[in-house]
Amino acid sequence: MPTIADALRAVKSSLPQGVELIAVSKTHPAELIREAYAAGQRHFGENKVQELALKAQALPPDIVWHMIGHLQTNKVKYIAPFVSYIHSVDSERVLDQIEHEAAKNGRIIKCLLQVHVAREETKFGFLPSELHSLLQSAFVYNLHHVRICGLMAMASNTDDIDQVRREFHVVQELFKQTKSIFFANDPSFCELSMGMSGDYKLAIDEGATMVRIGSSIFGQRIYNTEK
Ligand SMILES: *Cc1c(COP(=O)(O)O)cnc(C)c1O
Repeated sequence: MPTIADALRAVKSSLPQGVELIAVSKTHPAELIREAYAAGQRHFGENKVQELALKAQALPPDIVWHMIGHLQTNKVKYIAPFVSYIHSVDSERVLDQIEHEAAKNGRIIKCLLQVHVAREETKFGFLPSELHSLLQSAFVYNLHHVRICGLMAMASNTDDIDQVRREFHVVQELFKQTKSIFFANDPSFCELSMGMSGDYKLAIDEGATMVRIGSSIFGQRIYNTEK
């Protein structure tokens, strides 16, 4: 079994300059995050509010926390005091709530707008047309505690590499379009979060600037099915 430090080193060495590694630690205990932290990793991603809040409390304050899972409006308050990035903004309502809670905490939260390109109906995110309408409303430009930093997407969960590549390509085109139409003068809009353990190399080929990698670093996740 390679150690977490070995696995991190292997993944990092496969990333080009300028691509940020978000180590996805969901379901894994704080000890494993400490191991990655000791090996120099600072950006970590979680997909559940409660788990994220508990881990943030228990772990060093200089960790840069990324919320990458679907976020319910009524739970934004639990992460607003500390979260750096929210990748999974998928509605105007949640964006409004992030603004509200970030203001209460005197913070600016960096947000990525999640877009839906995968075949699975179960995945979240704006359709390209919805993204366009959102960005046409003045609301978005009056957010003072949210910084919109780019787009996030997940590809279909399939072995069909061409399908995955096509989906990432669609997102890249959407990113470029969005940048040139709505954020041409905003250098903050520069991140494209896409790619997981199984598909991050394809994502990088299609312009990803952030990759979210879990199992290649921490091993397989074991989900507790008793709830
Ligand atoms: C779990 C998860 C990942 C990481 O998946 P791996 O296949 O373990 O690398 C990336 N992004 C999101 C949104 C996730 O929920």
